[in-house]
Amino acid sequence: MTQRFMAPGPKKPPKRSLYQCAHAKVTTDGKRISCDKGHLFPRPGPAAAPKTLDIRSLIKGKPMELTICQSCRDYDEMGPPVPPGERGYIGAKDWNPLWEIN
Ligand code: SF4
Repeated sequence: MTQRFMAPGPKKPPKRSLYQCAHAKVTTDGKRISCDKGHLFPRPGPAAAPKTLDIRSLIKGKPMELTICQSCRDYDEMGPPVPPGERGYIGAKDWNPLWEIN
């Protein structure tokens, strides 16, 4: 009996993330991430900074692969994707609720 092997298909490109785009900026109060090209992230935010992303996503090393960035014409890649193990400052399991930003 012969065994059939399937040739691997084309590799999917890695998703774009906010770690890679030069236009993703931390807001001046240090609590949110916004797009300096004016694109609105599809997440609710506080009234003072709607459509921005909570900084805790960056601190915890979340993927931050927003749908809006995947086909954005203003995407400005700073380098290769950041491997998951090198993202963030602290693992989500080590997060202390006392550090919650208000
Ligand atoms: S990919 Fe587009 S929407 Fe996302 S941060 Fe960059 S410029 Fe802004």
